[in-house]
Amino acid sequence: MTPALAKATIPTTIFEMIGGLSRASLVCVTLLAATAGSVVAEPKANRLFGAKATPSQERPHAIGTYAKGCAGGLVALPETGPTWQAMRLSRNRNWGHPDAIDYVQRLSRFAARQPGWAGLYVGDISQPRGGPMVSGHQSHQIGLDIDFWMLPPRALNLSRAQRESISSVSVRSNDQRRVSPAWTAQHAAILRAAARDPAVDRIFVTAPAKLEMCRSATRADRDWLQKIRPIFGHNFHFHVRLKCPSDSSGCVTQTPTVAELSKGGNGCDSTLLWWVTDYLDPPAVTEPVDPPPRRPNARDYVMADLPAQCRTVLSAR
Ligand SMILES: [Zn+2]
Repeated sequence: MTPALAKATIPTTIFEMIGGLSRASLVCVTLLAATAGSVVAEPKANRLFGAKATPSQERPHAIGTYAKGCAGGLVALPETGPTWQAMRLSRNRNWGHPDAIDYVQRLSRFAARQPGWAGLYVGDISQPRGGPMVSGHQSHQIGLDIDFWMLPPRALNLSRAQRESISSVSVRSNDQRRVSPAWTAQHAAILRAAARDPAVDRIFVTAPAKLEMCRSATRADRDWLQKIRPIFGHNFHFHVRLKCPSDSSGCVTQTPTVAELSKGGNGCDSTLLWWVTDYLDPPAVTEPVDPPPRRPNARDYVMADLPAQCRTVLSAR
């Protein structure tokens, strides 16, 4: 590396991370290290975990947080069951904690009793050993996040090739303010059952779907809406996040909790309306604002960023 190149390619963010070192001294350190031949790019954790085709032979346990962790002893969701099909099998992300696999079977049995639904199409859960992924999700790292397609399965006889090629359906209008004609009472019934399950921590779904459920739910039956969290995207699928299982002392419960986020309510309020108003039409900014700090990206993590037990999971048989 030439001195000119070294100086030009060190991004400003590095200086923020290692406050105290001046830019000039960092260039010196970098060049010294390069000269000594000791600069070796650390492998990214998502490459290491993405390369594992099988789970670790351990007792099942989730480690860390949903967006920074891994999991040992995961089990496969069978590719096809009486009330479900796993989609996009080529990704090899149909692995979960046994609690997650039980949950999929439970919720899909409920879905199969809805008119027009043969069960559920199941999207990504986790990689065989969890961990960050080379593409897609920031979370889904500890075997407890499950995506379910919004597309009602008419039958559960899709071939592997069909499961790669067919698309889900969007339950959100193009202007992002209301549900689309694809939304049905059965979607609401399935999301209600999904949220009422005691294993669930929270569910992420597009805001118009929550707005519609806030409108249609009866006064006496609204508590479950607290677990339904509006978020960007999530109009082609909904995302169920399960609580930390009792067998996983290293699993970190998410904070703030849904009760804290909704101040003990059901979230059918102005914070929900924000998603279909100011979020889509941000008010004009009159004062200059600092850019938000760069958020950590799971694709940048190296093993040292993950809980120490993840090294064991990665190297286990
Ligand atoms: Zn998801």
